[in-house]
Amino acid sequence: MNTLIKNVIIVTMKEGDTPFHGDIHLAGDTIQQIGPALDVDADEVWDGQGMAVMPGLINAHQHTPMSLLRGFSDDLKLMDWLERKMLPAEANMTPEDIYWGAKLSMAEMIKSGTTAFADMYIHMDEIAAAVDEVGMRASLSRGMVFLQDDGGQRLTEALGLIERWNGKADGRITTMLAPHAPYTCPPEPLKRIVRLAEEMRLPIHIHLAETIEEVMSIREKYNETPAEYLYNIGLFDKAHVLLAHGVHMTRGDIGLLRGMRGGVAHNPVSNLKLGCGIAPVADMMKQNIVVGLGTDGAGSAATVDMFEEIKAAAWLQKLDYGDPTMLPAGQALRMATRDSAKLLNIDREVGTLEAGKRADLILVDMNKPHLQPVHQIESLLAYSANGADVDTTIVNGQVLMRHRQLATIDEDEMLRQAAIRAKRIVAGI
Ligand SMILES: [Zn+2]
Repeated sequence: MNTLIKNVIIVTMKEGDTPFHGDIHLAGDTIQQIGPALDVDADEVWDGQGMAVMPGLINAHQHTPMSLLRGFSDDLKLMDWLERKMLPAEANMTPEDIYWGAKLSMAEMIKSGTTAFADMYIHMDEIAAAVDEVGMRASLSRGMVFLQDDGGQRLTEALGLIERWNGKADGRITTMLAPHAPYTCPPEPLKRIVRLAEEMRLPIHIHLAETIEEVMSIREKYNETPAEYLYNIGLFDKAHVLLAHGVHMTRGDIGLLRGMRGGVAHNPVSNLKLGCGIAPVADMMKQNIVVGLGTDGAGSAATVDMFEEIKAAAWLQKLDYGDPTMLPAGQALRMATRDSAKLLNIDREVGTLEAGKRADLILVDMNKPHLQPVHQIESLLAYSANGADVDTTIVNGQVLMRHRQLATIDEDEMLRQAAIRAKRIVAGI
């Protein structure tokens, strides 16, 4: 592409930048220039009057094919939800179902302004193929549990995914190693994965301290908190680690994460809906721990609209502290962009709008009753906007949605496939 977008409100998300009116020039896969009134020779000129442009949102924790299980098992306790509903349904999923479930999730993400995501699931080759085709950016990992067996088959699949897909799709796909959680990964296999991650220079993606039950079970088995368990195994020594949740963290646990590479993906809507608790986000940030935002799978979160997470993250900290000055709008937006990019280890390429970075960005249509007047653009984007206000989504210089029309997904066919497959998967459960 060689496109000049004119007359937009530019929200760069760079530390210290204030939003301003101006133009942005994209060429190839890159942001060429940003400024008040650019004079460049572009193939296409878009008038962005009334639009805000910001970095694409980055969903730091997803299980994309769980979109097929949205709304199937709400209002249940976490273990009932998992054991009675999710696990039997997932056992019915074919690789083709995974492909279409991932596409359903990607369509929803593109339509709500997400440009990149971290995914942990099974049949990851199908998800990688869908990412390649659709044009999003993703960090993919095969989730590994080591309960019934030594997990050798799952590790082989994880390594196969890395070999086939790391750095592929014009560099849009990266990979991680994903031991599922402290309670599904005993010390020996977990140590093996940490060594592998260090040798192969791959990030680790793992769940941590999502529920009080998890904390109790790790305490019973090892007489440690989940964070202590990971720390003592050496998880935070060298590897870049993406920790999902971090809800039940003691002051001591937070201290253990200080100086770690990577950080925590906060999933406030899923935590709220499953009644898990409120993560100590502000306390972690005070210790300079990077905290980004994710949705978790749509099976628990109900939507993968990151604008919901931005609101929930800010409002939960305000509620928790009884203090409306906690986690202000700009900071919540930075969690969903720059800080999530750090968690995916792609912040050199994306996460802020800067000349030289990849062209991953969204246009938000502010010409709506609920987005007027524009006093503070960051407040409107964090607290008033929702995913349906996103007009255009661009990844790596490719337009994935323009005026709310998906450019790389046949939406009718995708919805048809998702409906048929979802019905079959849950039959009899
Ligand atoms: Zn998860």
